[in-house]
Amino acid sequence: MDNYKMLIGGEWVEGAGKIEVINPATEKAFATVEKGTKENVDAAVAAAKAAFPAWSQTPIEERQAKLAELSAAVAKNAEKLARLLTQEQGKPLAEAMGEMAWTEGYLGHFATLKVENRVIQDDEDFFIEMRRKPLGVVAGILPWNFPVLVACWKIAPALIAGNTIVLKPAPTTPVATLALGEICSEIFPPGVVNIITDENDLGPYLTTHPDVAKVGFTGSTATGKKIMASASDTLKRLTLELGGNDAGIVLDDVNVPETAQKIFDAAFLNCGQVCLAIKRAYVHDSIYDEMCAELSKIAENTVTDDGLKQGTNIGPIQNREQYEKVKGFLDDVRAAGKIAAGGQVEDREGFFIRPTIVRDVKEGDDIVDKEQFGPVLPLIRFTDIDDVVARANASEYGLGGSVWSSDVKRATDVAERIESGSVWVNQHINIGPHIPMAGFKQSGIGVEQSLEGLDEYTQVQVLNVAKR
Ligand code: NAD
Repeated sequence: MDNYKMLIGGEWVEGAGKIEVINPATEKAFATVEKGTKENVDAAVAAAKAAFPAWSQTPIEERQAKLAELSAAVAKNAEKLARLLTQEQGKPLAEAMGEMAWTEGYLGHFATLKVENRVIQDDEDFFIEMRRKPLGVVAGILPWNFPVLVACWKIAPALIAGNTIVLKPAPTTPVATLALGEICSEIFPPGVVNIITDENDLGPYLTTHPDVAKVGFTGSTATGKKIMASASDTLKRLTLELGGNDAGIVLDDVNVPETAQKIFDAAFLNCGQVCLAIKRAYVHDSIYDEMCAELSKIAENTVTDDGLKQGTNIGPIQNREQYEKVKGFLDDVRAAGKIAAGGQVEDREGFFIRPTIVRDVKEGDDIVDKEQFGPVLPLIRFTDIDDVVARANASEYGLGGSVWSSDVKRATDVAERIESGSVWVNQHINIGPHIPMAGFKQSGIGVEQSLEGLDEYTQVQVLNVAKR
């Protein structure tokens, strides 16, 4: 079984033992990683701090060129990375290749960006310029749903802004990130990119570390709150991309079969383990039964299996804890007789649950109010637009939302009333490196992607020169 070491200051480093990485399709270990220690965290932060002066002074053109090199290397190694990703994360190989393509495109776009200074005043009395300076050492804390892509959502802005970084993958998905680290170690100077691995115990130590200037975090809202508290002691800068409970509102005039397929895809991508998945579908009463039947048909025809097998549409849930959580949601709705399709927990090895359509549920039911983060889509009935907008907005989350209609103007009018960082019309999860991505309410703080996301990895300095 392959063992993957931690990347610290350009060296491959051992910890205090090995952690098995489980393939969720087989429940068997397929690799091991190092059990990192606080001393390893100290060493990684020290290496990043030591690398910072030279990296931050490296001309931007050189830093951009290195990021472009990383983008090309991800493309070249896509298949190897994708196979590792499928084994640890569970997603079908085609989706894992899609994550690599996304990663390549994201890095490629950021390789064209740079922070912009702005002259505020330049006259006979003063020269005043606003500059964006790097912060120092960034900690990038990663979730288990898109490990490689989200690692690069931290690496790219951190490095283009002139910072160095210490990444900590989620304990159940460290392998593809460490393989990405191997590529990084061949491109960037030692200490610019460091990766430590843990048993879900080193996050707090890293996010309170006095030499970490900023934390870029993607993960659950509960952990985001803990990180915010732990960052307060030294006033670290924060970007928090947290949970969501996105509503999709389906108006009465849609083409039902076409819309059903798009909604299904936006709800079940990556086995529903997507922050921006549709997690509640509000369907107009006049088409409710038809939509439920269409979605059920698609769910029944979906192949759930090991992501490495050809023909698999949906893989297993990523880890046992999440699997048990989703089973809990299913037990509730099964007991209430609300399952329209799917719902079977497969009697085999692996964390497999058939894609499930749930009907006749409403606010107050856990499956509607909470983030299920699994292959289960609840359908909720509505009749009145003002009422459905109020219900969609009555959530502590505000990550994304969408409105579906044959009349784009009508849908856009409704979309403008949705309280979320992204709001789509006749689509969902259309994100890109040039498009800012943010969360309202408890879905996050700050912006990722785009120039606005890059700015988050800088601090503002004003140079103010008296000319006479
Ligand atoms: P999680 O919060 O359990 O873990 C994320 C990371 O935080 C892991 O690396 C974990 O080890 C670390 N961590 C745990 N406790 C910590 C602490 N006290 N201090 C510092 N670090 C700590 O999240 P998850 O279960 O891996 O990911 C799923 C969640 O992430 C979902 O809620 C999903 O919606 C959200 N998510 C959001 C986005 C987004 O962009 N908004 C993207 C992907 C996932």
